[in-house]
Amino acid sequence: MARLVDTHAHLNAPDFAGDLEKVLARARQAGVAAMLDVGTGIESSRRSISLSLKYPQIKAAVGFHPHDAAGVTSSDFEQLALLAENPRVVAIGETGLDFYRLLSPPPVQEQIFRQHLQLAVKLDKPVIIHTREALPQTFRIIKEEPLSARRGVMHCFNGDRRWAQAFLRKGFYLSLAGPVTYPRSTLQELVKTIPLDRLLLETDCPYLAPQPFRGKRNEPAYIAETYRQVARIRGLKVEALAAIIWDNACRLFGMP
Ligand SMILES: [Zn+2]
Ligand SMILES: [Zn+2]
Repeated sequence: MARLVDTHAHLNAPDFAGDLEKVLARARQAGVAAMLDVGTGIESSRRSISLSLKYPQIKAAVGFHPHDAAGVTSSDFEQLALLAENPRVVAIGETGLDFYRLLSPPPVQEQIFRQHLQLAVKLDKPVIIHTREALPQTFRIIKEEPLSARRGVMHCFNGDRRWAQAFLRKGFYLSLAGPVTYPRSTLQELVKTIPLDRLLLETDCPYLAPQPFRGKRNEPAYIAETYRQVARIRGLKVEALAAIIWDNACRLFGMP
């Protein structure tokens, strides 16, 4: 069976509090051998680290989601920086800009995003970038700030080919989630243009379940659908694609 990795999950979310053991068992049965659990604030980042200490197949990432940037104090960020030093933490994030829901004012989102990039440089860890309705602004900031040599990943990427190429040229990986399985998704054309050695796959669970489970709570086991779809589009066997994505995740995050 193919050995799959889910490079972006929120198993720390309350959605999984009741049945996490079952969720992890189903992931194992589906061949998901490694998961990167992503924090979105201090509490979820702490939980991400504790999950990674309890389960060897889980690694952690710590950050403040752009939605919550407005509430982040300097002492919050200091706490996060301490959490980020934990060796189970393989990435900084998720961070970035979300101008779609605008839950925090753009200048504050930009400031907190810059702080994450600076922390990544200091700790020599990759960043996980969330960007929605903010591609030009996100790109401007990664041009202005010093970047970690480890660069990072544009998670749940849904920009067009031009933006994909711009972030690839900057050294970033692009990660696709469940929407690539939706009928008529423009991501099906985009995925043909991403070099295989820069491609990652993720669930972003509990959000964005792939096609057969669309609308339900997403979970790592469902990533098998995303692998099948991308393998079909790229004309690869699932096992071959899985080996490539596994190597990419290892290179970027040092997983497993
Ligand atoms: Zn996100
Ligand atoms: Zn996420």
